[in-house]
Amino acid sequence: MLRAEIQAGSALGEAARSIMASGGLVGDDLVNKMLAKRVSQPDSQNGFLLDGYPRTIEQAEYLDGLLDERKLPKPFILHLDVPMDALVGRLTSRRQCPKCGRIYNLLHQPPKNAGICDDDGTALITRKDDTEEVVKERLRTYDAISRPVLAHYQDSKYYRMIRGDRSPSYIFEEITGILEHASKNGASRGRVGAP
Ligand SMILES: [Zn+2]
Repeated sequence: MLRAEIQAGSALGEAARSIMASGGLVGDDLVNKMLAKRVSQPDSQNGFLLDGYPRTIEQAEYLDGLLDERKLPKPFILHLDVPMDALVGRLTSRRQCPKCGRIYNLLHQPPKNAGICDDDGTALITRKDDTEEVVKERLRTYDAISRPVLAHYQDSKYYRMIRGDRSPSYIFEEITGILEHASKNGASRGRVGAP
């Protein structure tokens, strides 16, 4: 969503671009405005899927207000929970080609020849922000910010926690099952789904 706004050169996109260019993080206010704009588009009228939003309690409260204002049903929250050790394992297994920028993961997307980029034969490197210490620090920060968001939704009857340290196909089936059951029971009035 952020990239699309930047690419379109909209006022919101320009504001985000200048913040990111100076190394800052795009704040809740800007992200919320982009969301409101995006979900007013015709392809969102029968429902929409948000991935990675709301990420802060301010965003969650904004979303509540937006859904109320537009007379949309309560959101269905799917929380993919992955244990800290598994996350650290995944993130520290990332390798990058310093020449072309391609990202590999030793666990599930390894290069054909160990340590070497498939495209140009350059030796792969571990990025500075993918070392164990930095990853743990990032995860602690994420946890501190996202904990209140989970607390905000935990009592909702539309909240489900899903174990995320399993295969994508297994997780896909579990999510499909939950949503089919919910829509049969009218929990979401059939409004859950893509784009
Ligand atoms: Zn490469």
